[in-house]
Amino acid sequence: METLSRESGIIYDFNKQHKPVKTVASGTTIEIETYDCFQNQIQSSDTVIAEMDWNQINPATGPIYVEGAKPGDVLKVNIEKIELENQGVMMVGPKLGVLGHRITDMEVKIVPIQDDKAMFNDIAIPLNPMIGVIGVAPAGEGVNCGTPGEHGGNMDNKMVAEGATLYFPVFTEGALFGLGDMHAAMGDGEISVSGIEIPGKATVTLEVLKGVSLQHPMLENDEVFTQIVSAKTLDEACSIATEEMIDRIVEKSGLPLSDVTMLMSATGQTEICQMVDPLMTARFVVPKWLLKQLNINLI
Ligand code: CA
Ligand code: ZN
Repeated sequence: METLSRESGIIYDFNKQHKPVKTVASGTTIEIETYDCFQNQIQSSDTVIAEMDWNQINPATGPIYVEGAKPGDVLKVNIEKIELENQGVMMVGPKLGVLGHRITDMEVKIVPIQDDKAMFNDIAIPLNPMIGVIGVAPAGEGVNCGTPGEHGGNMDNKMVAEGATLYFPVFTEGALFGLGDMHAAMGDGEISVSGIEIPGKATVTLEVLKGVSLQHPMLENDEVFTQIVSAKTLDEACSIATEEMIDRIVEKSGLPLSDVTMLMSATGQTEICQMVDPLMTARFVVPKWLLKQLNINLI
């Protein structure tokens, strides 16, 4: 299996100008090692936040050039495996997250992983290993790894977990894929601005799909198919995600818009990925049992 260490290359923005650190054929499975979102700068609760280098934030390992990927294609990313290291960290700070207006000091907490639980003081939190930053180079200028968009990026979507498959629109030759910002656990919203941030390894299979059109990333797992959209407000992100999903189901099923709208109102879920990054991310979630009854595939 191919591997890519975090020392071999990281990016702080998804950008078509970056030189790839690795080139792989479509269909390659690769194990990618990641730093945490602080680039492993916080190793103990004594770390002096003021002395941290805030330019070293949200590194994604990559970029990886996937042979054959051209603008207009789709990059399919199957998340085969997520392995966490043994210590996570969380943070709160003034002006950060939903409670930032009431938090007066920067504070970090080390969260060790023991017996498949994240230990927050003596509280054992079940693990939900997931990838916060994952995507491809966008069409225009670079987008920093703290911001989500049509290219993916910092979507902080807890469904980006083992067994999930992501689909990204490709904007540049080779796609220039990267990932980072792993979380041992995170709730929808990521309200403090940090999940349980942790370094680790993700094993993914990268495959180029031709003849599929996509405006924003999609994700599927065993149970659901989802449309992921990031926008200035959650209202906007939810509306666009819903509308794109409905348009896709109308196109694939041939059913009238009114029927699909009613069906989505009865069975679809509008969910928040995160509400703390420069753009907000939402997902519209459709159960696969419904797609089966409609006899359609969304990709
Ligand atoms: Ca993040
Ligand atoms: Zn994170």
